Amino acid sequence: MAARKLLLLPGDGIGPEAMAEVDKVLAVLARAGSPFETETALVGGAAYDAHGQAISNDHMALAMDADAVLFGAVGGPKWDSVPYEVRPEAGLLRLRKDMALFANLRPAICYPALADASSLKRELVDGLDILIVRELTGGVYFGSPKEIVDLGEGQKRGVDTQVYETYEIERIARVAFELARTRHGKVTSMEKRNVMKTGVLWNEVVSRVGRDEYRDVRLDHMLADAGGMQLVRSPKQFDVIVTDNLFGDMLSDIAAMLTGSLGMLPSASLGAPDANTGRRRALYEPVHGSAPDIAGRGLANPIAMIASLAMMLRYSFEMTHEAEALERAIAAVLEAGTRTADIMAPGCRQVGTGEMGDAVAARF
Ligand code: ATP
Ligand code: MG
Repeated sequence: MAARKLLLLPGDGIGPEAMAEVDKVLAVLARAGSPFETETALVGGAAYDAHGQAISNDHMALAMDADAVLFGAVGGPKWDSVPYEVRPEAGLLRLRKDMALFANLRPAICYPALADASSLKRELVDGLDILIVRELTGGVYFGSPKEIVDLGEGQKRGVDTQVYETYEIERIARVAFELARTRHGKVTSMEKRNVMKTGVLWNEVVSRVGRDEYRDVRLDHMLADAGGMQLVRSPKQFDVIVTDNLFGDMLSDIAAMLTGSLGMLPSASLGAPDANTGRRRALYEPVHGSAPDIAGRGLANPIAMIASLAMMLRYSFEMTHEAEALERAIAAVLEAGTRTADIMAPGCRQVGTGEMGDAVAARF
């Protein structure tokens, strides 16, 4: 197999600390005969400090050329007053846009060892394993017109426009159905067809794709508000949830809270398959941000970052066996009572970032 090219973008704050733990896992893979060709580049505040941009054209080109990108986190108070166009977050937005990453995958997994620590009752979330597939490049975040119009006499009008076209819904639906086939065979589509035309179209297109191409997958529809309620009331009824950009933003944050800590949650953003190679552009990143409050102190939980690597093995390289082994290693370390401060519980042993990475790598 051709060398697997991986671009590491540690970024700012706890990003580099967490990325250092990924290196330990990559070293284990290399010793086992699964080497990655890795390159490291700058993004966010680190890139701004080096060359005045949130990501340079050269480093952007590396991302476009890589088989997968692993991203840490960007931003922090140090860059609060840099110009808007080059603020650290602009680096991530450019990556998403130029790589055309339209599908955002956010698993909400509750490791049994942490069910007690969850914000909800144990019986709700113990063993929770759902996947939210959020459309990421369309909808109300990008539709035009998008403006504030001055109406005079102290009145203004704020306008955002929700737009979805058939092809955008088809491609996100296919991602959701394909993923459901590798999981528990069930997709729940969420929109608001009772009040939104885009919801009507969303429902219609997802239904047709399911009927024509994925008869083996069970498809349910829910209004997004009812879906949010069900997500909190009985989250384990779901397998894959597919929804638009705005609802996906909210529903995935709700799902995240079911599982306990921000330091545990990975995500993936996928583009369309290349017409020739079938390869999808992909970026993997922890859900958490740069956490400037704990940066540089060895306190960060590296599990979200390591779990993002596991998603990469599964979705970009079809290394399902290795992905599962890595996730089992994480679960085993938690079962053994090894905890970073954010997930610390009575009777457990508190460790720092490096020790947590060592522990996972040792069990992998
Ligand atoms: P962003 O705007 O980039 O999302 P944020 O300020 O909203 O950033 P985070 O940077 O994710 O959010 O941090 C939120 C809180 O969660 C912080 O106080 C931080 O201490 C904690 N936190 C986030 N990630 C981790 C982690 N990996 N390990 C431990 N604590 C974390
Ligand atoms: Mg945030």
